[in-house]
This record gives sequence, C-alpha cells and structure tokens, in this order.
Amino acid sequence: MQDNVEIAVVGTGMFGSAAAKYLSRAGADVMVIGPVRHGGEGSGRGHEPAGLAHFAAHEDEARIVRQMGWDRFWGAVDSRSAGRLRDIETISGIDVFHECGALALMPTSLKGRSQAMLRASAADGIRVRRLSEADLRGEFPALAVPPLAGGTEGLWEREGAGYLNPRRLVEAQLALTVKEGGRVLRGAVTAVRRDAAAGRWRLRVADDEGQGQWIGAEKVLIAAGSLLNHSDALPGELALDLQVFTEPNLLYEVEGSRLGPLRDLPTVVTVDPEDTGNANLSHYLLPPVRYPDGKWYLRIGPGMQPAVRQLRTPQEIGNWYARRRITAEQSSLLARMMRLMVPGLAPVAVRESCCVVDKTPTRYPYIGHLDGDETLTVAVGGNGHGARGSDEIGRLASTVVLGQPWDLSLPRETFAPITAPRGRAGDSARPEYLKPPFGLC
Ligand SMILES: Cc1cc2nc3c(=O)[nH]c(=O)nc-3n(C[C@H](O)[C@H](O)[C@H](O)COP(=O)(O)OP(=O)(O)OC[C@H]3O[C@@H](n4cnc5c(N)ncnc54)[C@H](O)[C@@H]3O)c2cc1C
Repeated sequence: MQDNVEIAVVGTGMFGSAAAKYLSRAGADVMVIGPVRHGGEGSGRGHEPAGLAHFAAHEDEARIVRQMGWDRFWGAVDSRSAGRLRDIETISGIDVFHECGALALMPTSLKGRSQAMLRASAADGIRVRRLSEADLRGEFPALAVPPLAGGTEGLWEREGAGYLNPRRLVEAQLALTVKEGGRVLRGAVTAVRRDAAAGRWRLRVADDEGQGQWIGAEKVLIAAGSLLNHSDALPGELALDLQVFTEPNLLYEVEGSRLGPLRDLPTVVTVDPEDTGNANLSHYLLPPVRYPDGKWYLRIGPGMQPAVRQLRTPQEIGNWYARRRITAEQSSLLARMMRLMVPGLAPVAVRESCCVVDKTPTRYPYIGHLDGDETLTVAVGGNGHGARGSDEIGRLASTVVLGQPWDLSLPRETFAPITAPRGRAGDSARPEYLKPPFGLC
C-alpha cells in the first residue's frame, strides 16, 4: 500500500529539516525522508553509489556561526538564522548553540570590504568591533596574528556568534517538525518519478535492510545535500551544476585539564586574497570542542587552495571516504596553518577527517523549482558554509514550495537552480569563483 502525503521532503539534513519544520508549521501534510544516522563525523557509508545517500555534511559537532556577512544574501540568512537559535533550543529542549564569538581576520588590502561589512552589520544592529594587530594580541593571547600581505585586522563579533552543533540542530528541527504535525521517515530515496496518470510524484524509499516502499506526494522538495547529483534523489536525467570538493580537516586533541587559555578562543576565519596557490593562508579554526568520545579537539580546515581537490564521480567520492585519510599535501597545509595560528599548541594526538562540500557557480544556494515544475523544488548548495544560515534557507525553500511571496531583498531568480547534463555536472576546470579570497567561509 502506498502512503500519500501533500509534501515529501527528501533529506533530513540541515536544509531539509528546517524546511520541513516551516512547511509543517504552515499547516501542510509533510513527510521528511532521510537515512538513519550512522554517527561518524563527515560521512555515513560511502563506498558504493547507493551508500552516498548516507553522507551528511552535518555529522559533526561544530559549525561556525556568524551574523556578519560577506555579502547581502549571506548576511541576511546568517543573521536571521542565528537570531532564532535560542528559540529553537527553548522549544525543542535541545542545546545547539555555543556563544564563544566569531573572529574574521581580514587583510587590510580588503579594508573597503571590511568597511562595507561593518556598515551592513551596524545597520542590522549586529555589534562588530574592528581590531588592530595589537588589539588582537591583547584580546586573544593564545592566538597568533597571521601575516596577511599588507597587514591584518580583525572583525570581532562577540555576541550571537560562535558555533552550533549541526547534529543537534538537525535533531531539534526534526523534533519541531513532528511537534508541528509532520512525519519523519527513515530511509534513502532511491527513485523519484512523476506519475502522470495520478498527477502526483512517487518516491521509492529503501530502509537500511533494503526493504522498499513507495510514497505518493503532490509536491517534492529535494534537499539531499552535496552529493545530490549522485544520490538518486533527482528525477529522470536531471542534474545540477553543483561541484563537489574534498573538505579535509585536522583535529588536534588537547587534554581537558590542560586547555588553559585555549578555552577562551573564538571561532576564526582568515581571509587571504593573494593568488598564491597552497601558500594562501585562508582557513577556518574551531576552538576546543568536546566530541562524543569525551575528548577535546581544536579543528582546522582550509579555504579553497588547490590542495582542496574536486571530486567528479561517485567512485572518486567513494574512494575519498574509503581511504579515511586526507592527502599528504592537505595535511601539511593544515598543519602549517595550525602552527601559524596557535604556535604553543601541544596536542596529545592529531586526527584526520574527510568530508566534502558543494559549490555552485553563483556562490549562493539553489532555492527554486526544477524544470519549470511548481511541484518540484530544490534547496541545496551550502557552498561550504550553509549550516549557520540553514534555518532561513529552509524557510525560504518552504515559501517557494507553498507558492508564497518571496520576501528577501535579492530577487528570487538569483537562487534559480542551474541544471547540467547528467554525468557532466561539475566537469569544468577550477573556475574563477574559487580563486582567492574565496568569500568568507
Ligand atoms: C568539514 C565541514 C565544515 C563545515 N563548516 C561549516 C561552518 O563552520 N559553518 C557553516 O555554516 N557551515 C559549514 N559547513 C557546511 C554545512 O555543514 C553545509 O553547508 C550544510 O550541512 C548543508 O546542508 P544540506 O542540508 O544541504 O546538506 P546535509 O546537511 O548534508 O544534508 C543532506 C541530507 O540529505 C540526505 N540524503 C542524501 N541523499 C538522499 C536520498 N537519496 N534520500 C534521502 N536522503 C538523502 C543525507 O543523508 C543528508 O542527511 C561545513 C561542512 C563541512 C563538510
């Protein structure tokens, strides 16, 4: 027997869970579908293409939250979402947000951009302080100031910024979806088909044992994350221009009793505009975070240096996860950054972590109908920093699904999904938009 719903949301990730909450809140009959969580950070099981549906970019303990934005869109979604985190915690009863502040280290050569960010933040009531190199040394004694060409300055957002726990945010959004009357179905969608005779969509859902069932839906929202083109979640021959890149991290384990001044570290991003390949200093740094194994880790990740490789096929993606090792080039690049940023760090051990991120040519997420079909919508393309804005991205996606007015100052067309021939998606050489300064990630 087929279960029928008004709206099926494919993907119980950051965008899908937020969208499902807003759709349920609007009174729609919603089912959000995604595989059982498998724990391990970064990935589920990714050896064979079908297993790629288990990959989730939110399977980790910390994602940087900042309200100050690199541009109007990201500023708006990031600040609206951050402003709701405490409410989400209160209503769901699930702790999500750690308010340790966010620091952006900017080159003085981009001071026009920093000025614009400060102006936009002030207009939105977001308090950001501009710190000189001397201020930075005084304020953050455990942190060194990276030598950006022309000098370095800090944009310091103390309140409403820090990091969120992405696993728990998803858990909270799903709990709120259920509270609003929605349903959560555990399984991977293995086919999405239009049943023209019935005038509805049919989705095949396979559970962990491979048992399948069909779900009928009037509308479908696909929010299946970075590996969307490889995860059977798109109907027919559709594919998106969505490129997948390795996201290598190093995790530095520090003994809980010896954290000392490291406890006061904020989250940090460093923006280096110089086109110097792997010598480019852009990166992000998370302060010590306690992981489920009970240990404390500082985590560091890159910008989009050439060492950050593109993954074009399901085989390449599967191999990246199967190896469970980042490349020697990635490892030495990240270790060099960590030495530069926290010179006195004496880790007990250093772990590697393999994840992936997706990039769109617009650098914005795709939030819109596919193939001109108002019953088929997509929300994907976090561009490596979609977690902090995910609540608002989910809300925007819900308005598109429901045919409600678009209420963002940027036109809706800016987020229209760009399709690409299947098998060719992401074929282009390293594009211009991945060159430094990469945007604030
Ligand atoms: C190492 C790393 C560090 C990051 N750091 C930050 C940060 O500091 N700040 C920040 O804001 N963002 C950060 N991000 C990005 C952020 O995590 C992503 O942008 C965000 O998770 C995107 O949400 P999503 O819903 O598109 O994808 P996901 O959260 O990955 O969710 C997609 C979901 O779809 C499911 N799915 C896939 N295929 C199917 C299918 N066929 N059927 C059913 N379900 C399916 C998957 O299982 C998954 O649960 C980081 C990402 C990585 C990897």
